Amino acid sequence: QAKKRFGQNFLVQPAIVQRIVAAVGPGSSDALVEIGPGRGALTRALLAALAPAQRLRVIELDRDLLPILRNLAPPERLEILAADALKVDFLKIADTAGARLRIVGNLPYNISTPLLFHLLGQAEAITDMHFMLQREVVERIVARPGSGTYGRLSVMLQAYCLVEMLFPVAPGNFHPVPKVDSAFLRLVPRHPTPIAPARQALFAEVVRLAFAQRRKTLANNFRSRLPAPAWEQLAIDPGRRAETLSVDDFFRLTEALDTAGVGYG
Ligand code: SAM
Repeated sequence: QAKKRFGQNFLVQPAIVQRIVAAVGPGSSDALVEIGPGRGALTRALLAALAPAQRLRVIELDRDLLPILRNLAPPERLEILAADALKVDFLKIADTAGARLRIVGNLPYNISTPLLFHLLGQAEAITDMHFMLQREVVERIVARPGSGTYGRLSVMLQAYCLVEMLFPVAPGNFHPVPKVDSAFLRLVPRHPTPIAPARQALFAEVVRLAFAQRRKTLANNFRSRLPAPAWEQLAIDPGRRAETLSVDDFFRLTEALDTAGVGYG
């Protein structure tokens, strides 16, 4: 019996599982981590694609599923962390593995946004991420400036990662059948992280404020915080709306606010 509170929709279509494994393309020196292995639909296929001595780490919150997972492979091949992925220290796992992580998962959709932000905060420990998500969320993540779905999620994810929607996945590929369409997404963190650590909180706050009321212009939110010459130097018209700004514009706006000594909080 699948549990709704854990966002359980299990993959039941082998062709999709194979497509996911092919998209990930596991390599023999990869430190691979799966979030939310469930009953192991993807886990089995990933284990089969790895070298015999290679270890797969999985993070599963539902303890009822652990016996199924333990049966898939011995502990030296399959390391099971019974934990909430939202609280997992991925920097520490990368440290133990001695390599940056490649993270894969058919994610529980109810926690996808906080989980993505949790992972962004640890992007330096990650080589890439491949996730099944609600299609609407994937479309927001990959949206370009000016499009109706471009917003906070697009800017935050694209600031830290190269993003790519790989393929859509119809509801009938899961059990129970979800009410929404899904899509498979690739995220490749940029190294080094393009925003200085000391500026990351300000950047997140600027993006949040900019989109809090998306119909408003930048002037409404920021003009009084920056002197006119600073706007001119930025070459950003404060009459524009946040949804027209590129990720690079947000970097530059954050830098200008930081230089002007503007803090939020
Ligand atoms: N990978 C499996 C598959 O494709 O069939 C299951 C995918 S299901 C959409 C999501 C899985 O994430 C479930 O097994 C669920 O128990 C687990 N899960 C839910 N919340 C979690 C959390 N906070 N941390 C780790 N795993 C979680």
